[in-house]
Amino acid sequence: MIPTRSTQAWQAADAAHFLHPFTDFKALGAQGARIIERADNIWLWDSEGQQILDAMSGLWCVNVGYGQPALVEAATEQLRQLPFYNAFFQTATPPAIALAEALAAIAPPGFQHVFFAGSGSEGNDTVVRMVRRYWDLQGQPQRQHIISRWNGYHGSTMAGASLGGMRYMHAQGGLPIPGISHIPQPYWWEHGRAQGLSREDFGLVAARWLEDEILRLGPENVAAFIGEPVQGAGGVIVPPASYWPEIQRIAERYGILLVADEVICGFGRTGQWWGSQTQGFRPDLMTFAKGVTSGYIPLGGVLVGERVATALIEQGGEFEHGYTYSGHPVACAVGLANLKLIQELGLVEHVREDVGPYLAEQFATLKDHPLVGDAETCGLMGAMLLVKDRATGAGFAPEQGVGMVCRGHCFGNGLIMRAVGDRMIIAPPLVITRAQVDELMHRIRRALDLTL
Ligand code: PLP
Repeated sequence: MIPTRSTQAWQAADAAHFLHPFTDFKALGAQGARIIERADNIWLWDSEGQQILDAMSGLWCVNVGYGQPALVEAATEQLRQLPFYNAFFQTATPPAIALAEALAAIAPPGFQHVFFAGSGSEGNDTVVRMVRRYWDLQGQPQRQHIISRWNGYHGSTMAGASLGGMRYMHAQGGLPIPGISHIPQPYWWEHGRAQGLSREDFGLVAARWLEDEILRLGPENVAAFIGEPVQGAGGVIVPPASYWPEIQRIAERYGILLVADEVICGFGRTGQWWGSQTQGFRPDLMTFAKGVTSGYIPLGGVLVGERVATALIEQGGEFEHGYTYSGHPVACAVGLANLKLIQELGLVEHVREDVGPYLAEQFATLKDHPLVGDAETCGLMGAMLLVKDRATGAGFAPEQGVGMVCRGHCFGNGLIMRAVGDRMIIAPPLVITRAQVDELMHRIRRALDLTL
């Protein structure tokens, strides 16, 4: 059992022993971590008893909300029945098989196969191995190069962080690994607005940066392009509608594989099962994680479309890749219960037809606030951009850290929202109701007023 302690005692033990991810350890040690003790629906409670609206679904993952008994029961039952067995050496477990089958049933046409991993980062490591294996099998082993985007996020392993376009991550540890390069993101505010381009025209311009990069590298050397349908960690950058269809045309023109990183966008977040469906393109591979178990237990993987699956299976030979926890039975049992719950609660339709459009409407009203230059959503992902001058769109100096100031006011007043530079972002649990959206908007406005 976990002991009961005071906030100060937890903070002291935390500072003494726990190295947190993506954290300045010294600064955290001085300030003390906020200790989150329990949760229900869209609410968290900290060790001081403060109730907090979790507008980030944990870390973009608790899609069915906290405290769902069906997921707890699925885990408990599977832990009793068979807590672990692997899928190496010609064995398999019923939960892994059943989840693979269930994922194939909700995937877009042409996806019948799944490779399981333990996280989104491991899923993207698998993508790198798999696309290179695919081209080897095609007799084109020189096709090794993968193109992704600056400010995209694909995880924190060596391959995941290399695919990602976070320069501050590359700066630590000699990244990216060879054979990966980046093109600019389709962020109209940054790259298209000053040029006077409409969003749609800019979408085409941004997609053609992919073509320029393919031609620079030589199409015969390019294996794949990977992107998030809507960039999440980069600041919820919703691309113009023209972007992904043009990317698809370019990928087809040069025969390269198209990979959708659906780790955030999958499982209903954008109002369809998959973000690629919302954005109107058909990938060859889809990475998933997070929402597959609503974060109740770690699980990730890759949905493998027909083109790659046929090569891997029909052409034979061992694919020298896998993880101890590929198809972990407890994680897969929770995944299965989670998919069933999403269907029973009609969450994809709830996002598409009800609460997504309502959030879009409410979020757009933030543009009347003196600090907000832009505000946009896609399903239940949203971002508002804090600016110094709404008339010109001029931003704050980075050293002012206005996003972090606003985040602090959210945090202090019972709201978890994230700051990416001066973009304040949300991704609430898909179970959120209209009345809860009203409460969320009230808290956002309070934080904005305090930031002024
Ligand atoms: N891909 C995307 C789009 C993500 O947002 C993330 C995590 O936020 C990852 C991959 C990495 O997933 P994980 O943290 O489970 O390794």
